[in-house]
Amino acid sequence: MSVSYQPELLYVDGRFRSGCEVVVADGKIVSVGQVNAKKDIEGVGVSDVRRLTGRALLPGMIDIHSHSFQRALRGKAESRRRSGPDFWSWRNIMYRCALALTPEEIYDVARMAFLEMTRAGITTVGEFHYLHRTPKGEAYADPNLLAKRVIRAAESVGIRIVLLRCAYVRAGFELPPDAGQIRFLEPDAERFLIDSETLRSEIAKMAATVSFGLAPHSVRAVPREYLKTISAWAQTYAMPLHMHVAEQPAEIEACVAEYRATPFEFLDGLGLMTHDFTAIHAIHLQAGEIERMGRGKITVGACPTTERNLGDGILAADELIDAGVSIAFGTDSHTQTDALENARELESNLRLRHLQRAVLDGRQGEALPALLFDFATCAGARSLHVESGALEVGKAADFFTVDLSDSSIAGSLPDELLTNVVFSMSPRAVCDVVVDGKTVIDERRHVLEGEIIEAFRRVQTRLGTEL
Ligand SMILES: [Zn+2]
Repeated sequence: MSVSYQPELLYVDGRFRSGCEVVVADGKIVSVGQVNAKKDIEGVGVSDVRRLTGRALLPGMIDIHSHSFQRALRGKAESRRRSGPDFWSWRNIMYRCALALTPEEIYDVARMAFLEMTRAGITTVGEFHYLHRTPKGEAYADPNLLAKRVIRAAESVGIRIVLLRCAYVRAGFELPPDAGQIRFLEPDAERFLIDSETLRSEIAKMAATVSFGLAPHSVRAVPREYLKTISAWAQTYAMPLHMHVAEQPAEIEACVAEYRATPFEFLDGLGLMTHDFTAIHAIHLQAGEIERMGRGKITVGACPTTERNLGDGILAADELIDAGVSIAFGTDSHTQTDALENARELESNLRLRHLQRAVLDGRQGEALPALLFDFATCAGARSLHVESGALEVGKAADFFTVDLSDSSIAGSLPDELLTNVVFSMSPRAVCDVVVDGKTVIDERRHVLEGEIIEAFRRVQTRLGTEL
């Protein structure tokens, strides 16, 4: 049987329409359009009608780049005394956080991160997972124990997850080992592939809301031969392949020193620049690299809320879009968990750089709000290979509603509503969230919210203010 959701306004085909419904059966969208008074959608009887007066319904947003454990770092790294002056010194406190968490705490922190995502209208997370080992650097009896704790956290919250299993081999070119990375390291590519294949096949038997991808951490952390071996395996399954690329200038210098090539030249030479590849950050680009990225139809995972927090730099989104690169969003370090803040920051940074307004307006033939919202939805689905991100028949029933009387968007005319959602809406306006046809947030509440927050509070109390 199916459920008909009948909001006051439905975001479909790039605009809000009234008098429409989205009908869901078995976790999928089976009909979208004008409310069908006969209640008979292609032979599927409608068993339940949910009238959502005063709400607008939109496709769920997709967060393609999360390190959920870093939610525990919030509040601990905003002073020079604690985390130093730059990305590299911040990384040391992040490593201490990674070393401090027990498997159960990793679960508790992930649940907090995923709860916050759903409260913000995010229905899918791409979890770039690099915590594999014990704090002493030993393998757990089940080498995928921590990945499974994170998956279990996603299932508990009800968010769709793509577990991107991360390869991490070394500190960097000609750098001595870094003790802070000991939980990440899996130096043997063959062993990495055995453990990845085990997890991939286990996930294949899990619910439809869990899937798998591969994530060589970065050019600095994964040397060429290892990268070639594991990316060849990923390509046999045509799975999502995500990698941090060009977040900081020092990475480019090291790549040129080691391979006599810039990062995207190097990756292109290995045949990785395809539509399955997502480059996270891609801030510091060299001459000719944007053209290579566009030719490969890759995705760039922009994480502006984290990139501004870490002082990484500004993404040349205008040039990338013009070259044909797809852009999707990640919350990354969870300083702020808000996909729409990422969307508005992407544009705002360009305004500050070019001293202009509406810099991305009209690119790809789309109005600015629709373009940014597409990045937060459809582009994320493409990057993670999930069938969601739009209210279309056959897609997963992943969507959220917003309260049209919330003070951040109240008074919006239908033609202005998306602009206000993208540029002004508070996550507080999100009312209902549905993932795979199941209600996850109901009237702004998650059924496990009290328990999740209390468990997270206990973790934060144990960690204390100093790491
Ligand atoms: Zn990251």
